[in-house]
Amino acid sequence: MQAIILLGAPGAGKGTLAEGVRNATGLIHVSTGDMLRAAVKAGTPTGREAQAYMEKGELVPDDVILRIVGERLAQGKPDDRYMFDGFPRTLEQARQLDATLAALGGSVRQVFLLEVPVPVIVSRLSGRRICKTCGAVYHLTNIPPKQAGVCDQCGGPLYQRPDDSEETVLNRLEVYQRQTASLIEFYAQKGLLVRINAGTTPQAATAELLARLA
Ligand code: AMP
Repeated sequence: MQAIILLGAPGAGKGTLAEGVRNATGLIHVSTGDMLRAAVKAGTPTGREAQAYMEKGELVPDDVILRIVGERLAQGKPDDRYMFDGFPRTLEQARQLDATLAALGGSVRQVFLLEVPVPVIVSRLSGRRICKTCGAVYHLTNIPPKQAGVCDQCGGPLYQRPDDSEETVLNRLEVYQRQTASLIEFYAQKGLLVRINAGTTPQAATAELLARLA
């Protein structure tokens, strides 16, 4: 069981890049943010536990995250190849991921750090809109839907994630600096870090990542 990781601040484009990379490579995309939003929507005990943290832009506790990722990997096969998006976000998660993969005979192969200037991040997040029905991602100016407020793919209504409001965005960036940025050094020391310029277009960033994928 092998894995690559997409690391970067909220708004760095992890989800968008993951979609392009998955389509090009067949890697299995695992987004803890998507899993948590699905749990909140379904009203499961995990969703009820996670919701308050997510609304404030705080990290959901490690034990909750490690449980849902562990359950997901337990459904996998030994030769599966994963792409994690938004996970790990703390050193504890990173260490546990190493241990879990090692127990399954695998490892983290590469960690792609998506680098984006802060003003670009804030504009991306505050303009982001998501389809309530199929989850497709738009942006008011960068990736506008053909008809305002309506999904091109399924006709569903577009909404703004509650944690994309300006105040929560600033907290999420602070949380990233405080709790997640230390992973850059953790993976650099292991020789796994690959820096990607993700401040341009999704197409350019995806092409750069694919070119550097081992
Ligand atoms: P994302 O869609 O990756 O931006 O995640 C949305 C929110 O879900 C985050 O702001 C956190 O509250 C929570 N979350 C997602 N992944 C993790 C993780 N690996 N560790 C802790 N919290 C997470």
